[in-house]
Amino acid sequence: MAEVNNWQLGRTMQYPYPENRPRRQIAWVFDTNKCIACQTCTIACKSTWTWGSGQEYMLWNNVETKPFGFFPVGWDVELMNVLGPAKWTGGKLESQTIFEGLPAGERVKGWLPAEEDWASPNIGEDEPVGVAQQGSYIPSMPHNEMWFSYLARICNHCTYPGCVAACPRQAIYKRPEDGIVLVDQSRCRGYQECAQGCPYKKVMFNNNTRTSEKCIACFPKIEQGLQPQCVTSCIGRIRIAGFISPPGQVNPQNPIDYLVKVKKVALPLYPQAGTEPNVYYIPPMHAGRDYLHQMFGPGSDEAIKTYQNTKNDPELLGLMMLFGSTERIMHRFRVEGETAIGMDENGAELVRVPVREPSWVRTYFDEVRGAYNHNIT
Ligand code: SF4
Ligand code: SF4
Repeated sequence: MAEVNNWQLGRTMQYPYPENRPRRQIAWVFDTNKCIACQTCTIACKSTWTWGSGQEYMLWNNVETKPFGFFPVGWDVELMNVLGPAKWTGGKLESQTIFEGLPAGERVKGWLPAEEDWASPNIGEDEPVGVAQQGSYIPSMPHNEMWFSYLARICNHCTYPGCVAACPRQAIYKRPEDGIVLVDQSRCRGYQECAQGCPYKKVMFNNNTRTSEKCIACFPKIEQGLQPQCVTSCIGRIRIAGFISPPGQVNPQNPIDYLVKVKKVALPLYPQAGTEPNVYYIPPMHAGRDYLHQMFGPGSDEAIKTYQNTKNDPELLGLMMLFGSTERIMHRFRVEGETAIGMDENGAELVRVPVREPSWVRTYFDEVRGAYNHNIT
């Protein structure tokens, strides 16, 4: 085992291979507060990549309701069983990752879902925590006591992938040019060690081809400077994809750096697993706080505070308005007065959007038409 730096844990950790970061790392930010679970992203991904034989139950992108929805069934409950409660001191993880404290000969703490666990992708949809009393209505419900939230999930293209660590044939690799994690189908022998080793259960086994398959981050699009299908199809404009700077480096003009490192409003999912995942989430502000600490680590309270102050923060607000505004990868952004501008790698303008969308409040009674108006949006 090598000793590698995991900035999300605030410490070094053990990993089967030495630290070997890609030249640049693709990363995503998802704003969970804006997701409506329409599953457009799921279908955009499925109809692009997994429409073939043996891929019937394969959803490289899925959206589940937390805390009772899962795909596959119980994936995060199993992860908690394997890891135990995460112990953080400040920003440092004191407990062990999936790569640490292993019996001799083992490389990753994991488990393999049963085949039927993949058969109910929408299980638990819209099931809330808590019980609404008869006659209660939304403003009277106890805040953070009765809730559910949506979690959109793809492969995290981790810096220290559990799937790579677990594969006995080195059939999974991380591309040096962009950090995308891929399965080499010609080397895979279908041992499913990767599916067992991925804490997020984002490697899936194709029973027809007898090989493992996974999200490929739409690499043909990334190579052309375009964002993946799940991002550009998103109805709620909750997603942005770009490149994150290496640990210790921050470019405040880079949208991903700004959200993850400057504002710290977007956090990795279950960082305690130790894979340094590269999908970052703005936590759902109405979910139970203990649950959020478990899911996103100790920064979740501050992230929510920052998010709730977005309306008073023109730069953050401007960047939030740039989500879903262009198919191209935005490398930089700036806010000028009431306009947010997204730019490419060379600083050329890609898109500009108003920071505040205009709104009109209609009069309650329209005297010309003799009709009552309702302002419902
Ligand atoms: S999320 Fe899973 S499949 Fe994707 S890179 Fe990480 S460990 Fe591998
Ligand atoms: S398309 Fe966007 S809003 Fe719809 S489910 Fe997917 S992430 Fe959520």
